[in-house]
Amino acid sequence: LVAAATDNIDRLVRWADDFPVDGVRFADLTPVFADSDGLSSVVAALATAGSGADLVAGIDARGFLLGAGVALTLGTGVLAVRKAGKLPPPVVSQSYQLEYGSAELQIPEAVDVSGRKVLVIDDVLATGGTVAATVELLRTRGADIVGAAVALEISALGGRGKCVGYPLVCLRQV
Ligand code: AMP
Repeated sequence: LVAAATDNIDRLVRWADDFPVDGVRFADLTPVFADSDGLSSVVAALATAGSGADLVAGIDARGFLLGAGVALTLGTGVLAVRKAGKLPPPVVSQSYQLEYGSAELQIPEAVDVSGRKVLVIDDVLATGGTVAATVELLRTRGADIVGAAVALEISALGGRGKCVGYPLVCLRQV
């Protein structure tokens, strides 16, 4: 299952040097998701990380696409973890440090994640700050994180070290 997804990622990923800023090598997975085999193989492989999950959290914005697919595969709902300013109040927020400056993620206060078993999904793990902030936000509200899964891990940035206390599945490491 994972091998098919890895092949499709390798075949279709579009690498861009110095995007969106100098020194970043950006992995654009848009062509993977636009391909029927690419989407289905990646979703199926990510879903293997979600045994026991009763909720999938998809991170803004490419994590929404994968998260919805994984949730349908697992028979759960999907919680969109949004960037600040997209949701009307009341919301629960978690801020985190970026390489330059900070960012904030939010979920509606009305979605009760207490006691839920959550699988966190995003497209790319880079420094790990985004996944770690999502996990922190959900744990603060009482969720139990059963795992995190991403299509691509940029290992040189060490994000894996920020994913503590739950299994991390990455379909392709570079
Ligand atoms: P990070 O918090 O550093 O792990 O960054 C992860 C988030 O930023 C994910 O939501 C990715 O979509 C995006 N991202 C960061 N670096 C890259 C990259 N080199 N290529 C593609 N997406 C990236």
